[in-house]
Amino acid sequence: MSQTIMQADFLISLPVLKGHCQTTMTCALKNMKGCISDTSKRKFHSWGLHEPIAVLNTIKHADLVIVDSLNGDLDFEEGGNPVQTNRMFAGLDSVLIDTFGTHLMGFDVSDVPYISLAESLHVGSGRIEQAAIVELNSDSQGETARPTGRVQTMSTYTLPSSACSACFGNLIHALARMEDRGSLSRLDRKVHIGQDYRGKSGCGLGVGVCTSGFTHSLAGCPPKAVDMVHFLEHLIEEN
Ligand code: SF4
Repeated sequence: MSQTIMQADFLISLPVLKGHCQTTMTCALKNMKGCISDTSKRKFHSWGLHEPIAVLNTIKHADLVIVDSLNGDLDFEEGGNPVQTNRMFAGLDSVLIDTFGTHLMGFDVSDVPYISLAESLHVGSGRIEQAAIVELNSDSQGETARPTGRVQTMSTYTLPSSACSACFGNLIHALARMEDRGSLSRLDRKVHIGQDYRGKSGCGLGVGVCTSGFTHSLAGCPPKAVDMVHFLEHLIEEN
């Protein structure tokens, strides 16, 4: 954890409420991951994200959370399906803020396990029915759209194991592009991705330096989505 953050008298966090391809949603609790080193971030992925995010917030969590929910993405942290809501909200309890955020996005709290884990570790309370919610002003745009299942569909073509967000996100982007181009239906193998494949060999297909021992592997850490598209489509053409 950053020493500057640990020494702060009062910490204000400014997360964007948006979808996330691995944790379903990201907001206050997950925003604290921005206060740790890149090495620690990689470890978080190998530890499964949800538990370390919850535990991190027992070490330090924001004193005030001001959420940018103006134009967060429907289902993906890197954008692509922004949903204009013209909304911001603030609170003192990160668990409560995240619980509120899941509802705004049409999810159940159980869809985002680190929220209940953080509550069980006494980071805050998700009892929204006991919260005092004050609306300062209202917007006239009406309901927000419920996230689509497109990322979930793309994930069925993958075999992730402790994959970093950027890497997995790039792969989801690549597979979505391939679907757009009509080549995805001809991909007859799942794509391995993630740190658990380091040092492993085999005849499988993988992307990222972690899968360098595989027969078919694309280098990079993380590889760009466009390179993944070319790599995978080249393999399809070879078969
Ligand atoms: S190759 Fe991908 S999964 Fe492996 S360490 Fe790099 S970014 Fe993470």
